[in-house]
Amino acid sequence: MSLVVMKFGGTSVADLSKIANAARKVQQEVENGHNVIVIVSAMSGKTNELVGWVSETSTFYDAREYDAVVSSGENVTAGLMALTLQEMGVAARSWQGWQVPLQTNSAHGAARILDIPCENLNSKFDQGMNVAVVAGFQGVSPEGRITTLGRGGSDTTAVAFAAAFKAQRCDIYTDVDGIYTTDPRIVSKARKMEKISYEEMLELASLGAKVLQTRSVELAMRYKVPLRVLSSFEDDISETAGTYVCDEEEIMEDNVVSGVAYSRDEAKITLVSVADRPGVAAAIFVPLAEAGVNVDMIVQNISEEGRTDMTFSCPTNEIARAQKALETAKGSGTINFHGLVVDDLVAKVSIVGVGMRSHAGIAAKMFEVLAKEGVNIRVITTSEIKVSVLIDRKYMELAVRALHDAFELEKAT
Ligand code: ASP
Ligand code: MG
Repeated sequence: MSLVVMKFGGTSVADLSKIANAARKVQQEVENGHNVIVIVSAMSGKTNELVGWVSETSTFYDAREYDAVVSSGENVTAGLMALTLQEMGVAARSWQGWQVPLQTNSAHGAARILDIPCENLNSKFDQGMNVAVVAGFQGVSPEGRITTLGRGGSDTTAVAFAAAFKAQRCDIYTDVDGIYTTDPRIVSKARKMEKISYEEMLELASLGAKVLQTRSVELAMRYKVPLRVLSSFEDDISETAGTYVCDEEEIMEDNVVSGVAYSRDEAKITLVSVADRPGVAAAIFVPLAEAGVNVDMIVQNISEEGRTDMTFSCPTNEIARAQKALETAKGSGTINFHGLVVDDLVAKVSIVGVGMRSHAGIAAKMFEVLAKEGVNIRVITTSEIKVSVLIDRKYMELAVRALHDAFELEKAT
């Protein structure tokens, strides 16, 4: 019997009527002849509340107890979803992570999935169960303790189940009806894409398009899981609904640039006048890494008289940690700089597209567009399929709109 995985995010299960709405979509798939593994998130806002309770109780909390608390949101939804389905006459049963068992390592709060044995669920499917409702975001460590997979981790649970059970599809139900060329709140003519490649989605996901957890896309790419993003608030769940995330080869459209992404809360930190000699970059970035600072872009200026400026970007909420790590390193004598300049009013805007691999001049066109709008570029980074610039935050929306226009992303070609 064919199996599909359906994942419902927090807004899709926010209250009992939304759970009933989601359950009707599950019922529809059962009526279409599928067995279904449903992965549920906590009801919207629940995980934040639980995290808040933990932090309020204990500043340097024990991560094992953090997981015990924050994993509970998903348990509630799983039970309620199973009950709702049973009320509809669907043979459904809920499963917590440890019951499956979804085995993870012991990295509490950010655990990695090690294995999902299929026997338990499969034997229930064989006995007539049609729907397994599995609590997302959670697993069990080798020590037998509950773990969680990191915020947004239910997406990763869903993809992992789809891979382990070789599901026909992994449908991610959310509050948007697909992946857009950019944020429709900024560009009203942003276009919903029919398909997007794993690689582009990975860039867009890590660039702040918050639809899918980055790790879930990595996993989908590795195991070639056919992934789809669609709305739980639209009636259409037929094959043409939503956006498919798939292999590049399956995509017929060939826009050179597929999307414009942005990330608002970026900061730029410059170390003024550091020595320009071997080992300096390591002396700066190793302590930052150890402090858990997510360094993104890095530029080193040309040096004058053996000294140079080093600039990097990181999320604004990591500025304090970065400053502390750098001042500590300076205090211990491993690095030496004359000043530390923080600019917390920048944003990152990126264009993404696999077509860039075979087309020259895309970065140049991006810079021209920004120049025409009078937007000053502070830092630039590129990869094979992406160009990112750091600019003043007040020009972010202007830049996104201008780039979307210039690359004509509203048109599918
Ligand atoms: N409930 C968890 C969170 O809010 C996991 C998820 O929804 O994906 O991060
Ligand atoms: Mg999510």
